[in-house]
Amino acid sequence: MSAILPGATIGILGGGQLGRMTAMAARSLGYRVQVLDPDPSCPARFVVDSCFSASWDDAHSAADLARGSDVVTLEIEQIPISTMEAAAHHAPVRPSPHVLEVVQDRVRQKKWLAANGFPVGEFREVCSAQEMAVAIATFESDCFIKSARGGYDGRGQLRIRPNAKESLSGDSAWKALGERPCVAEKALALEAEVSVLVARRPSGESVSYDPALNHHENQILAWSAIPAELPESVKKLAQDLGRQLVEQLDVMGLLVIEMFLLEDGKLLVNELAPRPHNTYHASERACVTSQFEQCVRAVCDLPLGDPGVIRPAAIVNLLGDVWLGTDPPAFDRALAVPGVRLHLYEKSIPRPGRKMGHFSAVGETAKEAIERVLRAKASL
Ligand code: ADP
Ligand code: MG
Repeated sequence: MSAILPGATIGILGGGQLGRMTAMAARSLGYRVQVLDPDPSCPARFVVDSCFSASWDDAHSAADLARGSDVVTLEIEQIPISTMEAAAHHAPVRPSPHVLEVVQDRVRQKKWLAANGFPVGEFREVCSAQEMAVAIATFESDCFIKSARGGYDGRGQLRIRPNAKESLSGDSAWKALGERPCVAEKALALEAEVSVLVARRPSGESVSYDPALNHHENQILAWSAIPAELPESVKKLAQDLGRQLVEQLDVMGLLVIEMFLLEDGKLLVNELAPRPHNTYHASERACVTSQFEQCVRAVCDLPLGDPGVIRPAAIVNLLGDVWLGTDPPAFDRALAVPGVRLHLYEKSIPRPGRKMGHFSAVGETAKEAIERVLRAKASL
């Protein structure tokens, strides 16, 4: 296996904010970048050499992207396997289609995790209104119902409270999620949410990052900090799980593992993402090597960068809701907060719940960094 050196072209399936920030890191290393995305004004388009506007199932366009690329990677899981395979005829695709096959369907992913001995919460596959009713009845307490495919940032998900007065019946939950296969999960009492990033290159080398501590509101990530201030034993367990997962799934590139820490100290795997991830945006400020540069190094089979923490850092997401208050938001006030930087994705239409950008900040401690990004956001 030989390294793909700067000057070569990287193709990215997906031109959202993750593709954009990966492209910026690639450019700074001297690569050319092209992306494929259904949205002609996707965030990456402003920073890449070319942008293919095509739907995810357009295998011909994916093949064209790959023909002009030395390696192809992705920033989203919902790419049809046929599209990935069309690209793989013309350039190495990292991570490979088999990784997507496992992760892009929540049911298959959970079954794979359980079958391979990884700890997961109680779940049931749901393929009909009747199975939905059975699942809701089985858990007795609150549960989450999630579409097997296509959901993100809490979309395609319902929380069912069977003991509440206005609880949804199996039939209405089945209809509300589009009458498609789902997974039902017992709602767990979470002590904390953490994630771990592991990078792996074709030559076999891998590195894992310090776990990030993540706070969600309405099932969307609100803020995240590196390093997670948790007992060393929990951090080690999380990193061990990450290393085993990246090997067992045979991932080339990045793998982020979202985990639930339960009150009894147990760690469960929530979900996997074989790409850069919102919970590691703070790696741009906290770590020697950002997740975006690491992604480029891993898929190009370059020596992996040092994942070590230089200084604690945090990020807070800026959703479209912020713009609905004042447009443009008062970024001048926010940037007066010490240690704060602004990262906008150049999305033209702010919608509630849509990720438009984030603030990052460094601090003496992760707690101080979190306090700074929250103060910046509150000042808008
Ligand atoms: P998404 O793909 O939208 O990120 P997740 O499965 O990660 O979907 O769910 C989003 C968030 O919802 C989680 O990070 C967590 O805060 C909450 N959540 C999801 N499933 C559960 C569960 N079984 N118990 C408790 N909280 C959950
Ligand atoms: Mg998630």
